[in-house]
Amino acid sequence: MKQDCDKPSEKPGTKVQFRFYAELNDFLRRDRRQVVFDYYYHGPVSIKEAIENLGVPHSDVDLILVNGVQAELSRHLTENDYISVYPVFELLDISSLTSERKEPLRNIRFIVDCHLGRLAKNLRIIGFDTLYRNDYQDDEIRFLARLQNRIILTKDKGLLMAKSVTRGYYVRAIDTRGQTKEIIHKFDLVKKIDPLSRCLICNHKLIKLHPGTRPLGIFDDEGNPFTEIFRCYHCDKFFWKGSHYKHMIEEIIRYMQP
Ligand SMILES: [Zn+2]
Repeated sequence: MKQDCDKPSEKPGTKVQFRFYAELNDFLRRDRRQVVFDYYYHGPVSIKEAIENLGVPHSDVDLILVNGVQAELSRHLTENDYISVYPVFELLDISSLTSERKEPLRNIRFIVDCHLGRLAKNLRIIGFDTLYRNDYQDDEIRFLARLQNRIILTKDKGLLMAKSVTRGYYVRAIDTRGQTKEIIHKFDLVKKIDPLSRCLICNHKLIKLHPGTRPLGIFDDEGNPFTEIFRCYHCDKFFWKGSHYKHMIEEIIRYMQP
């Protein structure tokens, strides 16, 4: 049961207080951002239900403190609770606190929704394992994310609201370049960038060909064969460090700037 008494009434219900931190404020009504505010509820309501009722996807939440003590999303609200809600910490040091999620994601992997195809391609270009199809259904994305321990990247808040979602991020930027930069910095990926390691068409790992192996027709402007050629054995595409590669590296350096 979800109750949110935004409008004053004769019976406002039971009062708790919330404070949301950092980018979680983006989801809140303007007057609730960066401040402690009262929240009224009726009947048993979990923290998960309350924060989603306030518009914040639970998958963006990493740590909850109730009266200074760490709590689970499933905990029920009790009168006069003071609830602090923190976002997914990828950049900040919270080593002194135990995170809501039991295990950190050592190898960051993504799955993106059907509206973020260009972001998916960019993430592959810089070497991150990123699943994408333009015909994924929401349930399929949630299932694959859970099965393969992937972070869902989406511009659809509803996709992140389901209970089965444990890792997800609502992408704020509008254009692909801004989105790529946002993800790199949000998930602290700068040191993990590895260009030409993953096929940007199908996401499989690229294999560097032996210097003696030169597929026909791949030459530089002077007609010399490239020495470094990479092959995707899944979709049988070749990639090499031509002029497009130089442009790509320049673009990546721009993404890496804070
Ligand atoms: Zn491929």
